[in-house]
Formats: sequence, C-alpha cells, structure tokens
Amino acid sequence: MYPQPMIAMAAAAAFFAATPAHAQRDGVVVERVAFAMGTSLQIEARAETRDAAVQSSECALKAVEAAERRLSTWRDDSELMALLRMPVEESAPASAALCAELLEAQRWSRLTNRAFDPGVGALVAVYDLRGEGQWPSAARIARALSRGGIADLSIAGGRVTKRANVMLDAGAFGKGAALEAAVAAMKAAGASAATINFGGQTLMFGAEAESSVYVADPRDRSRSALRVQVRDGSLATTCNSERRRVVDGRPLGHILDPRSGLPAEDLGSVTIWASNAFDADCLSTACFVLGPDAALELVERLDGVEIVVMRCQSSSSALTVRLSSGFKDRVKGVLPELDIQSS
Ligand code: AMP
Ligand code: MG
Repeated sequence: MYPQPMIAMAAAAAFFAATPAHAQRDGVVVERVAFAMGTSLQIEARAETRDAAVQSSECALKAVEAAERRLSTWRDDSELMALLRMPVEESAPASAALCAELLEAQRWSRLTNRAFDPGVGALVAVYDLRGEGQWPSAARIARALSRGGIADLSIAGGRVTKRANVMLDAGAFGKGAALEAAVAAMKAAGASAATINFGGQTLMFGAEAESSVYVADPRDRSRSALRVQVRDGSLATTCNSERRRVVDGRPLGHILDPRSGLPAEDLGSVTIWASNAFDADCLSTACFVLGPDAALELVERLDGVEIVVMRCQSSSSALTVRLSSGFKDRVKGVLPELDIQSS
C-alpha cells in the first residue's frame, strides 16, 4: 500500500505526517477546520494558553475571510472587482493590503517574464474555465490578450490606476496571499507555532524540527509520490489533475500561458517550497507554465526557493522527478519505481 492522505480534500496537494514537529512542544494546540475561498482550511494553532490558541485560530480565519473579500474574482463585491470595473485611465483609492498584494504580484510577473500574470482574467473567460470549458477561436484569444496584463495597473500612493481594460484572476495567488495574512494575524494574537493547510497549500511557522510533507502523485492524487522534509515555510503545488477536462476530444487544462494565450503544456505537477506562501503560490503557477528546464533554472537563481517537478505523459505512464539542488537530500520517493534526478 502507498501512504494515503489523512484527510480527503478535493484539492489536497500535500498533507502532513501524523505528528507535526511542534506537537512535541509546550503549550496548547487547537485545531480548526473551516471552508473559505471555495476550499477547505485546516488550522493547527499553538499558543501558551488554550484561550490564546483559540483566539489566534479565530484571527487566522478572519484574516482569510478578509483576504477573500479583498481579492476574490469570483464575487462582484470584492475590493479588487470594484477596482477592475473602473473605466480605463481612472484611478481609485485601494487598501494598503490590496496595494501591497498587487505590487507583489506585479513583481513576480516581471521576474517570471509573465509566465505568471493574473491578467489572464479575460483568457479564463474565453476558455470558459469556470464553466464547462471551450476552445475559443484565434480571434477571441487575440482580443483577450489585447486587454493587457497586471503590469497595466499603476499602483502608487494608495491609489490604483487602470492603464488598460485588464481583467485579473486571483486564482494563482489568492490562497498564498490569504495564508500570509493568516500568519500575520496569528502571530499578532500570540500563536507561537502553526500548521495551516489551505486547499492543499501548506504553511508552517514556529516548528521546532523538520516534519514530512507528502506530495501527491499527479497521475493519481489519492496517493502520495514523495515525502519532503521541511520546517518553516510554505509548499504549493500546481497541476491539472483535479480540473482536467476534455473539450471536443482535446484535454483543456486550467493553467494558461499569458504570453501566447494557449493552455500550458500539461507536464504533470510542479511543487514549490518557499519561505513565504505568496511566493510559493505565484511561483508554482509560473513554473508550470515555464516547463521543467526554465523552471529549474529560475528556482536555482532564487534564494530560499526549491522545486519538485513531476513529469508524466499520461495517467498510466512512468513518473520522472526533477529536484532543485537544495531538495536533493530532503525529498524521498514513496512510490517504488520513481526516477528521481536532481540538478
Ligand atoms: P494555481 O492552482 O495556483 O496554479 O492557480 C491556477 C489558477 O490561476 C487558474 O485556475 C486560473 O484561474 C489562474 N491562472 C491560470 N494561468 C495563470 C497564469 N499563467 N498566471 C496567473 N494566473 C493564472
Ligand atoms: Mg499558484
């Protein structure tokens, strides 16, 4: 038998071993499960007293809900959607949190040469990725591309100006942003350590020792393929497995290349480890679009970031695993036949 994820979750990408490192420490751990941003949110908060642990988990949940009200591109009443409805060349005030998140997203878009660009909103619509899915004509793809990207927002002095009729989709960074907001809120409320699993993206802080995080097999995500030894930081996975659909006989994935307007090649899965959940989220999407060679090359240039690329041709083909150099001694296969290469 292969190790099975402890908790069945629709979008589970990673799960923790039974004894998280911080469980060995003093203090009280409170566990809480909620639903936010369309997915499950599991929080384990450690603090000196039970009250402080409860309070910090409450603050984490509130911070995630606030991030959803700020960033969601699934609801018309979010702060971001109100900004995006503004006419081109107009500007409006925006919260400090939203300005900081948009600036960070712009930075990752630049650093990845637009492999990551939340300005794919119009493309997501023409492919009907929130519905049944469809293959649009070249003309419709070109029209969607002409609406620009996140670089077309000017963000300064607490105001955002729309320089083009850009439509954003927060799908690739919203969970990471919410996790970072949750951690800040938990620390402020007195948590000394926490483990959060938000729809498969995990985040840990305050751990006394390393723990194992299992990463799902992209061919069959109910089982694990790898075990990663990590401590404080966040692990995010991008793959098509749960949202793969076949439209007119052709597979249509949900990760798009913002430069060509075409779906990214479905390589299998990309898992990123970073000290910050926002970075891990942006980079896992970007690296999926970049493909293994360019992704590994980018990650090797970044401090404190590691990558696992699991490549497979189909659900029945062999799995090839490529690791960044910092993961060489931290990743072990839990499937017998894995071919693991590190750079
Ligand atoms: P993730 O699962 O974090 O990789 O995010 C994927 C989601 O982000 C998709 O479902 C789209 O909503 C959106 N998206 C797709 N491709 C891109 C891209 N290249 N850059 C930014 N967002 C994207
Ligand atoms: Mg992402």
